Amino acid sequence: MSISVTPQKQISQLERVGAHSHIKGIGLDENLEAKQSNEGMVGQLKARRAIGVILRMIQAGKIAGRAILMSGPPSTGKTAIAMGLAQSLGNDTPFVSISASEVFSLEVSKTEALLQALRKSIGVRIKEDTEIIEGEVVEIQIDRSITGGNKQGKLTIRTTDMETVYDLGNKMIDSLTKEKVLAGDVISIDKSTGRITKLGRSFTRARDYDAMGADTRFVQCPQGELQKRKEVVHTVSLHDIDVINSRTQGFLALFAGDTGEIKQEVREQINTKVAEWREEGKAEICPGVLFIDEVHMLDIESFSFLNRALEDELAPIVIMASNRGVTRIRGTNYKAPHGIPLDLLDRMLIVSTQPYTNEEVQEILRIRCQEEDIDMEDTALKRLSDIAQETSLRYALLLISTSNEVALKRKSAVVQVQDIERVYNLFLDQKRSVQFLEEFEKDYID
Ligand code: ATP
Repeated sequence: MSISVTPQKQISQLERVGAHSHIKGIGLDENLEAKQSNEGMVGQLKARRAIGVILRMIQAGKIAGRAILMSGPPSTGKTAIAMGLAQSLGNDTPFVSISASEVFSLEVSKTEALLQALRKSIGVRIKEDTEIIEGEVVEIQIDRSITGGNKQGKLTIRTTDMETVYDLGNKMIDSLTKEKVLAGDVISIDKSTGRITKLGRSFTRARDYDAMGADTRFVQCPQGELQKRKEVVHTVSLHDIDVINSRTQGFLALFAGDTGEIKQEVREQINTKVAEWREEGKAEICPGVLFIDEVHMLDIESFSFLNRALEDELAPIVIMASNRGVTRIRGTNYKAPHGIPLDLLDRMLIVSTQPYTNEEVQEILRIRCQEEDIDMEDTALKRLSDIAQETSLRYALLLISTSNEVALKRKSAVVQVQDIERVYNLFLDQKRSVQFLEEFEKDYID
C-alpha cells in the first residue's frame, strides 16, 4: 500500500478557549523559576515549576508515554496551566485537549475515541524533496474556450539565464487565478503540490510602481536555473495519516471531522510505514500532549485501555485533570482517589494546584479585565475578588463582561461597585442556585 500524507495540514493547536485567552505560556524564566505574575499566569508557582520540568523534557524529546495528573480544587488553574504548556510548546508539537465525557460518543466506541485522541497527539515530521520552479512570469495563456472539466493553458517563465514554457493543469490555473498572478510577477511553483506563491513584482517592471500600489513588493528576477531542489518539512499527526488512508473519501473526512472507526490493519500498516520512514531518515516522531479534563468521567475500561496505550512506543504524554477527591471509579463499585484506578495512579506524576490568596484572585481578575478590554474601578475589582472567594473564581470571571454590559447601559465606561452588585443579584452562583432549588423544590417538576 502506498501511504499518502497530503494535505500538508499544520497541526492546529487546540482551539483557544476564550476563558484562557489571557494565558500566553507558563511564565517561567530560563532557570525554570516562576515569576508571581508572568505571561498571564498568576501564582501556582510550584505547579508551574513542575510543568516547566515536563516542558523541558518534552522539548528534549526525552519523554513519551508518561501520564501526569493535575489535581486540585475547582478553578485553581489546572486547565490554565495545561494551556500555558501548549503555548510554550509552540506550533510544531501537537497539543490535543478533550473532556473525558467526549469519549462517550454515539458514533465510535470509547476506546476508538481515545485512540484517535492519542494519535492526534503524535506528530510526524516528514521531510520531502520537492522541485521548486522560481522565475519571472513572461506570459500566461489560458484557453478560456474550454468550459468545465479540464482547463488548459501555458505559462512562460524566465530567470536571468533561461526561459521555459510550462503546460498548465487545473490546479496551477486555479492557483494562478487565486494569487492574481500577472506578467512581471516573480513566482515560485511547488511541483509536488502545484501550489504557486507570488514572491513579488520584478524590479525590471519598477515603472509600474504607481499602477501596482504602494504595498507591492519588488524583487530581483531570479538568476540561474529555473528548477531547484528543496527540502520541505511538514508536520502531520498520526491520526491525519490514518484518516487520509482509511476511507474512500480520503482526506475530505479530515475536514468533515466524520472519521468513523479506523480499521486496526490500517493503523498497523501506517505504523510500519512510519517506522520505515524513520529508519530512512525521512521522518521524525514528535510526541505531543493529550490533555484529558474531568478525568473522573472516564470508566474502568477506558482507564485500562489508557494504561495499556501508554506502554506503546508511539504514545504521547497524557495530562489528566481532576478536581475530585476519593470517588467511585465509573463502571465499578470501588472508590479511589480522583476516581482513577490505583495501578494507573501509581504510574502517574502528580502535580497539585492550591487555592488562591485574595491578592492572586484580584490579579487574575485584573488580567481578565485587560484581556476583555474592560475598565473596572479598584473598589469594584476588590468587591469582585471578595465574591470570588465566597463563590468561585470562575463565577467571578463571568461577572466581568456582564457587569460591563450593565455599566454601559447606564452610560458609564467604567465598571463600578454598583454594577458588580447588580449582576451578583441578577445571576446566581452555584451555592445560591442550590439554595433556591431547595426553597422552591415543590414548584419544580420531579
Ligand atoms: P476545574 O477543576 O473546575 O475544571 P481548573 O482548575 O481547570 O478548574 P481553570 O479552568 O484553569 O480551572 O481556571 C478557571 C479560570 O481562571 C480560567 O479562565 C483560567 O484561565 C483562570 N485562571 C485560573 N488560574 C489562573 C492563574 N494561575 N493565572 C491566570 N489565570 C488563571
